[in-house]
Amino acid sequence: MPLVTSKGLLEKALQEGYAIGAFNANNMEMVQAIVETAEEERSPVIVQISQGAINYGGADYFAALVKLAAEKATVPVVLHLDHGMDLAVNVRCLREGFSSLMFDGSKLPFAENIAITRQVVEIAHKVGVPVEGEIGKVPTTKGEAIPYEELRQFFTNPEEAVEFFQKTGVDSLAVSVGSAHKMKVREAILDIERIAAIREAVQIPLVLHGASGVKDDQIPLAIKAGIAKINVATELGKAFTAELQKAFAADPGQVDLRKYTAPARAAVKEAVREKIRLFGSQGKAPDYYKDEGAWSEPEIAREAPE
Ligand SMILES: [Zn+2]
Repeated sequence: MPLVTSKGLLEKALQEGYAIGAFNANNMEMVQAIVETAEEERSPVIVQISQGAINYGGADYFAALVKLAAEKATVPVVLHLDHGMDLAVNVRCLREGFSSLMFDGSKLPFAENIAITRQVVEIAHKVGVPVEGEIGKVPTTKGEAIPYEELRQFFTNPEEAVEFFQKTGVDSLAVSVGSAHKMKVREAILDIERIAAIREAVQIPLVLHGASGVKDDQIPLAIKAGIAKINVATELGKAFTAELQKAFAADPGQVDLRKYTAPARAAVKEAVREKIRLFGSQGKAPDYYKDEGAWSEPEIAREAPE
């Protein structure tokens, strides 16, 4: 299937009470792991590329990889820009065919965040591409948990969220409700009532960033309160690098790098599967995608050759 936009997928998820996983990819193996697992789970999926990943590999390379993965899949696949920090990167990704954008102006003064988000929305909507905005700030850690009382200063204010939504026309909204980026421990507790209040006020799908650090039992509550997109990056990075390190330690003299990356890719698949099931999106891909499926060729063997 060609890429789809995130708009319909997130609105359907919000109505039906599940969330779509938005998984960060940093190389080909991760793109394959994410989309293949979504296919196996019959789940819609968002592959997201951060600005850091674009600096590393190029928006054009990632666009080509994700478009190919989508073409081969029979479930809906979205190509999303994660934390685009300025107008230029958003326009660049639009030009590369991204089907969903994000402008993150959460570090800017409120009025400036509104002004640039509005600009991105105006341009993207001209070609039917939805935009995620961020209000309040999801902080970034060095791996550890941040005390709840400290986190509260970053929280999204529901009244500000309404003003932001009305003045920008964003299609989805990243909110700060207790999670933090790059947490390596799953300990964060969320302000569920705040999620419900923001959802009540703005009526659009809400996005949870930093989900790798959130306790599992918080996720169904957050979804019920209005979260429809959940971002996962750190846990996939952990799965990939832990397996790489294990393979390297077991056979440090190896020169066939696929002996290291093939098990790492397999580990990412299992991490993605766990999240898809936790978010409740398994089996939510419409069947007509399958009927028109593109699996006319035999699947390529994924094991590294001898
Ligand atoms: Zn984020």
